[in-house]
Amino acid sequence: MARFDNRLSIQLKNDSVFTDASLRAMLAACFGSLGLGGKRQLHIKAGRRNGRVSGRATVRGRWMMLCIPPIHDPLTVARVLHHEALHNLGAQHEDMTKEQRYCQASWKPSWWREELVLVRSTTKAPTDEAKRLAVQKKLKAAHEGLARANRRAKLAATWQKKWKRKLAGLEQALRAMDARASMQATVLLDGVPVGEGELTLTDTD
Ligand SMILES: [Zn+2]
Repeated sequence: MARFDNRLSIQLKNDSVFTDASLRAMLAACFGSLGLGGKRQLHIKAGRRNGRVSGRATVRGRWMMLCIPPIHDPLTVARVLHHEALHNLGAQHEDMTKEQRYCQASWKPSWWREELVLVRSTTKAPTDEAKRLAVQKKLKAAHEGLARANRRAKLAATWQKKWKRKLAGLEQALRAMDARASMQATVLLDGVPVGEGELTLTDTD
């Protein structure tokens, strides 16, 4: 039976702030040490600032996801990577040692070397996390803007009512004056001077 080609090839989708090359070096060291070969699908996500390094993987499979915050300790990434690689190999949590299962800080995977640092890319476009933060900032400003506009609208409505009342009062006063003036004019046109309190049109006959 022909031996199938088990050379490691990694299909990397990298959304993190770290360079593909530095990620690949760490992945190759881990997979090489565990004897994981063949075609592997890796998705490296950008974790939240101050977030944890986390991962998911198919048990006895080829897919793995690692979520790496921009500020991190590379050894922590190595521990989570090793944990997920064990899943890819077919291990369930019960099959792992305590330090592997809980990625304990006292544990250094055997393949870990100080040189396996993750290098931040200087040319990368803003990460999803950075974009999210920018949108959140704009959202906060929009909320504040709306609250300000609402306060102004309320104030404007108060002023509107005030001026409407004022206008109505003035118009009424003017109408009353006009009515009085026109009544007096009618009376005077008939040539009969009428004193106050005698304003009845029948008197003019
Ligand atoms: Zn697990």
